[in-house]
Amino acid sequence: MPPRGARKAALDVVPPTEDSPIKRKIDEESNLLSPRRQSKRIKSIEQFRINPSTSSPAIARESADRDTRSSQKTQSQSEESAGLIKEEFEEKEQTVDTEVKDARVKGQAITTAKATKTRTKKDQIEMQPLRARTQGLRMYVGAHVSAAGGVHNAVNNSKHIGGNAFALFLKSQRKWDNPPLQDEPRDSFLRLCKEQGYDAAKYVLPHGSYLVNLAQEDKAKSKQAYDSFVDDLHRCEALGIKLYNFHPGSANQSSLPDALVRLAKALTNALSATKTVVPVLETMCGHGSTIGGSLSEFRDLLALIPKEYHARIGICIDTCHSFAAGYDLVSPEGFQAFLKEFEDLIGIQHLRALHLNDSKAPRGSKRDLHANIGTGFLGLRAFHNVMNEPRFEGIPMILETPIDRPPSTSNGPPSTTKKPPKKPAATKTQLVPDFSVWAREIELLESLIGMDPESSKFRELEAELFEEGRETREKHMEQHKRKLEADEKKAAKGQGKQKTLMEMMTKSKTKKASKKGHDDESEDEGCQSC
Ligand SMILES: [Zn+2]
Ligand SMILES: [Zn+2]
Repeated sequence: MPPRGARKAALDVVPPTEDSPIKRKIDEESNLLSPRRQSKRIKSIEQFRINPSTSSPAIARESADRDTRSSQKTQSQSEESAGLIKEEFEEKEQTVDTEVKDARVKGQAITTAKATKTRTKKDQIEMQPLRARTQGLRMYVGAHVSAAGGVHNAVNNSKHIGGNAFALFLKSQRKWDNPPLQDEPRDSFLRLCKEQGYDAAKYVLPHGSYLVNLAQEDKAKSKQAYDSFVDDLHRCEALGIKLYNFHPGSANQSSLPDALVRLAKALTNALSATKTVVPVLETMCGHGSTIGGSLSEFRDLLALIPKEYHARIGICIDTCHSFAAGYDLVSPEGFQAFLKEFEDLIGIQHLRALHLNDSKAPRGSKRDLHANIGTGFLGLRAFHNVMNEPRFEGIPMILETPIDRPPSTSNGPPSTTKKPPKKPAATKTQLVPDFSVWAREIELLESLIGMDPESSKFRELEAELFEEGRETREKHMEQHKRKLEADEKKAAKGQGKQKTLMEMMTKSKTKKASKKGHDDESEDEGCQSC
């Protein structure tokens, strides 16, 4: 069984999401949390169960050490191994209206919960880290953790999963009005970072609000977005944080060049209004009019920003997004070609962070569906590429993978004796975040450093994770194929009509026919995936 505190803490924290919208109801305070991600129960890999005493993450000090890395033990921090941390958590049971009809459950029977249920109580709990942080690595892996109850709580939440870097929201990401940052959480954040050995200037990467679109046309909305953005940047500077990740935004109905001009102006103003913080633009999946699917768009944006500010513009590669946008990150050649393009178009000095997510949808699908590491279409190979890329050393690598699981599977090691009960038909189960998923993924990723991808160890891991994600991948591949077929049919229909109309126009040149032809052509333009 997991530590009591870990299970209780699990109720307090919600993982991040950039998935397509899911049906859910979250109370007001949960806006401070990372949003929940819809997820199926995905079996955890056995060898990365939480047990720091048996873990053997690689230590990457020198390349010459690589052969011996796997035998080196995690250095448990004395304070982590010595004692329990007592903290007061405001426990919140969040509401998730999520179908888990295909959830597989080990151990206890699923407790079906009401779709809407909110409970708050104060509880004194004990929290023991799920794993110790690995010391001496060049790769700084962590996750987007909750800052519920104050930004300072993110520090311990990251420590809890053994993260050497972390992301957080600095304020509610789903509402515009937020109280200013108070002195107390600010001071606690600074103190805890120091105590726990997190260099906030390097390895803390807040995520901006989903509401903010600096590229939008509407004047009033644009000002609102800019004010919120600059407020976040000021919060970063107050907290000693240098990197700030945000989405480039969307052109909406306007043209991409116009949108880039607006984004560049807003960014330039924000840079002149601040001193040290580095806004970090995240690569996106290229859906619709979203900016940031193609790396060339970052090149075009940089060209619109005065040179003196370039040192303060960063890019964050989200592996799921860039893969969904069409880039091959799986084959070593494709991965190297992607980085070459990054270097040629943008410049590697702008690469300041990574978001590590596998993808439930295939390459080029333009769908933003994060999967657990190794279970999606990227697979473990892609993350082997990432974890052994020298250009990624020393920058924060943040997991945004789904961790919501049915309650009986959370945190505790899966039962090896009990068989999963038959799932009740058509029931909805309240999922809870299982932080041990992130702890295991961090350990898994760290273990890939220096691992031979042709070794039996790697192949076994790869095969096991591949199998875990099979069902989900097949489902999304099917959806993708249907989408492509529908697009093809639509295109063929449009072309057919266009041809017919051309003939008609040639013959009669009727005004009505001309208008219809134009409409059909318009329907086939643009991305309509997801
Ligand atoms: Zn994001
Ligand atoms: Zn991301």
